[in-house]
Amino acid sequence: MRYSGFRVIREALRGHTGWGAAWRDPEPKDHYDIIVIGGGGHGLATAHYLAKVHGQHRVAVIEKGWIGGGNVGRNTTIIRSNYLLDGNEPFYELSLKLWEGLEQDLNYNAMVSQRGIINLLHSDAQRDAYIRRGNAMMLNGADAELLDAAAVRKEYPYLNFNDARFPIKGGLAQRRGGTVRHDAVAWGYARGADSRGVDIIQNCAVTGFRIEEGRCIGVETERGFIGAKKVGCAVAGNSGRVMDMAGMRLPIESHVLQAFVSEGLKPVLPGVVTFGAGHFYVSQSDKGGLVFGGDIDGYNSYAQRGNLPTVEDVCEGGMAIMPMIGRARLLRMWGGIMDMSMDGSPIIDRTPVEGLYFNGGWCYGGFKATPASGYCFAHLLATDQPHPVATALRFDRFERGYMIDEKGMGNQPNLH
Ligand SMILES: Cc1cc2nc3c(=O)[nH]c(=O)nc-3n(C[C@H](O)[C@H](O)[C@H](O)COP(=O)(O)OP(=O)(O)OC[C@H]3O[C@@H](n4cnc5c(N)ncnc54)[C@H](O)[C@@H]3O)c2cc1C
Repeated sequence: MRYSGFRVIREALRGHTGWGAAWRDPEPKDHYDIIVIGGGGHGLATAHYLAKVHGQHRVAVIEKGWIGGGNVGRNTTIIRSNYLLDGNEPFYELSLKLWEGLEQDLNYNAMVSQRGIINLLHSDAQRDAYIRRGNAMMLNGADAELLDAAAVRKEYPYLNFNDARFPIKGGLAQRRGGTVRHDAVAWGYARGADSRGVDIIQNCAVTGFRIEEGRCIGVETERGFIGAKKVGCAVAGNSGRVMDMAGMRLPIESHVLQAFVSEGLKPVLPGVVTFGAGHFYVSQSDKGGLVFGGDIDGYNSYAQRGNLPTVEDVCEGGMAIMPMIGRARLLRMWGGIMDMSMDGSPIIDRTPVEGLYFNGGWCYGGFKATPASGYCFAHLLATDQPHPVATALRFDRFERGYMIDEKGMGNQPNLH
């Protein structure tokens, strides 16, 4: 069923009786060509591009809970491609281009809103660093614009320009950045994959891998063994636990990240703003709530809930750039599990086990990566070759010393 304005009017006139389910609820088959573990954004996008771009239709996505119940439905919805390093920027720029055509590709309203993102700068040294990053972005075909304080003030008059401890001296803007309705991304990709024959199997945790003579021949699940020629793992914060079942120890730690939503306010923020002297980012949802977040909780955890000191820390960041936020009531908050890699950059690669592939280490920036992650992981699964923009995102970069350390923090996952 294709969605369109005409269809909405037609259904409105006949009492909405004609809408069908957006995806099936199939029984698992005995064997697939490719199994993708994890029905988050990355797993579902992988399945969609496997079917659409590579003509792979005997594909299953196996999800422990329900699709969209993981980080894809828990994040603060920001998309952007404002990275510095060569290993990252072309990849995230591909992702942004895929976001730009996503709704047409999926025939699904994911509320892709290119409302722009501004990274605030608070010192001359930071301006230099942002100029360098902006140049790197433009060299990779992305857009970047340096703003002075007056230009930021014109767009964001409610920020603190008067007596801030860290005065706002300008910002690096990416106009094509913005927000996307996160759970609609999971639903849109699920619908796209399902319509091309992919089986999405929910409430079915993978409990083990069947590996014979160094080759993965399928997965053990709560609903029995399912065979496959190839298995791809895309379970985000659970990467360590799942790959442990295949006897692998990953260069990844799991940490909690929290998100917050205030009560609905009149429009105050036209786009996404990030604080440059602390960790705080905020946008305003179409319903009026301020959607914001900050640092991870900083200790290893698999719990999808965070601690109160981090709430205080995040809110302090908000108060530092936008004191009016202190008058808004906090409506909701929640946590998600982040797969923090050693250098803060992701991994899309084969593993030492033949037929077993890995996608993870997305840290807290994996939502914006969803389309490119799926695109590149599908490419790897289908062709056994890394996609050209993902050649650096390999396991062996840690062995070879070719880190992609965007923040320059060294090998300490909780600092990236
Ligand atoms: C609070 C918060 C804010 C964030 N904000 C942003 C942001 O603004 N911008 C941005 O780019 N990124 C952001 N992120 C990061 C982003 O959400 C993640 O990096 C990304 O969603 C991870 O990929 P995913 O969607 O595939 O993960 P998930 O949705 O978590 O998918 C993984 C799936 O694997 C399943 N699974 C786990 N174990 C098994 C098993 N044994 N068998 C079967 N299935 C299994 C899980 O149930 C889950 O559904 C944020 C994350 C959080 C938590």
